[in-house]
Amino acid sequence: MTATITSLAHGRDHLAIPGPSVMPDRVLRAMHRPAPNIYQGELVDITASIKTDLNTIAGNSGEVGIYIGNGHAAWEASLVNTFSRGDKVLFITNGRFGLAWADAASGLGIDVQLLDCGHTQAVDAAQLESVLTADDTHSIKAVLTVHTDTASSSSNDLKRIRNAIDNAKHPALYMVDSIASFACEAFHMDELGVDVMVTASQKGLMTPPGLALLFVGKRFWDYQEKANLVTPYWNARTRIFPDMFPDNFNGTPPTHHLFGLREALNMLMEEGIDNTWRRHALFAQAVWAAVEKWSDGGDFACNVDKPDMRSHAVTMVKTAPDVGLRLQQWCNEHYGVVLGVALAPEPGRRLLNSAFRIGHMGHLNPPMLLGTLSTIETGLQAMNIDKGTGAVDAAAAVLASAHNA
Ligand SMILES: *Cc1c(COP(=O)(O)O)cnc(C)c1O
Repeated sequence: MTATITSLAHGRDHLAIPGPSVMPDRVLRAMHRPAPNIYQGELVDITASIKTDLNTIAGNSGEVGIYIGNGHAAWEASLVNTFSRGDKVLFITNGRFGLAWADAASGLGIDVQLLDCGHTQAVDAAQLESVLTADDTHSIKAVLTVHTDTASSSSNDLKRIRNAIDNAKHPALYMVDSIASFACEAFHMDELGVDVMVTASQKGLMTPPGLALLFVGKRFWDYQEKANLVTPYWNARTRIFPDMFPDNFNGTPPTHHLFGLREALNMLMEEGIDNTWRRHALFAQAVWAAVEKWSDGGDFACNVDKPDMRSHAVTMVKTAPDVGLRLQQWCNEHYGVVLGVALAPEPGRRLLNSAFRIGHMGHLNPPMLLGTLSTIETGLQAMNIDKGTGAVDAAAAVLASAHNA
């Protein structure tokens, strides 16, 4: 027996958290360059091509506006451009992120009604339909939902939500937060009849945090015209229909983020978005297969019980008290693998010690995924935690099965 080893964290650290995600070398290299001309030339051209390609990936025949900001900025952009103080809206929530978007709306003076689905499941479309049917005066201006709630790792079926709105014959605008799911999970804005969608650069788009994206369809503009919460900086109209290039950003363009995002979009176009979605679906199944094996001989479970309600971009794993947070710390300290910490369901920033999250979004291949799962396996063994065997084998079997199809 050799001396006790403390840390084997050499080579590259690996971020297995649900954003920011791993940045590809191609994206990093694209950003490593001098400050560009912001008046004409390449930057102006790539901004136009970025918008075109973003809309292609989103399946959006409408427009997209770019803000310098994180996901919270995207939330604010979506709300202030759509609503007036006192407008009533319905938020479907399945975890902390949906609740936080709703809090942002309340803070702006929007009258928020919650359809709170808890922290472990997707929305029940029939329940949504009955809430909307009961609103016979159509006082609800919009239905807002997170696609994947990153805190709980639940994922809503956006088509079912669309159908529920249609079945209730309700004119509410349909608004979606795709921050965790964009370029990870299947989405088609036009086909789903989504009127407003927000995302950000640092998850499926593999670019550093700093770009907030607001996608809008035709019906958005009627709302935008009337919204009295909008201020000049946040105004989507001037950004989306700029007089001059800097109007795209209401000031200095985020030069290097644009270079990075351009390269990330090149990578997504090369892979083909359908393949990107398939890759994420496969990786998610590999993670769930591992969790199931751990659960055979120990206290582990996917937070979301039903596979069709689970995200393909992130998985929250419940553990015995203390195990989740200790495991997160062990993997970080000893192996340089950063797992996601688990956020408590209630408001605030309290962490759960009885869960952890695995981010499996963006620039990820089987060695990275299997490396993460093997690191967890090793950590659990080193910590002497009771668990079932064969987790990594099970994940490998899922991956292998994709080649035998
Ligand atoms: C990450 C995330 C956000 C918040 O993004 P920030 O960049 O941290 O502001 C909002 N919604 C979802 C679904 C997310 O995954």
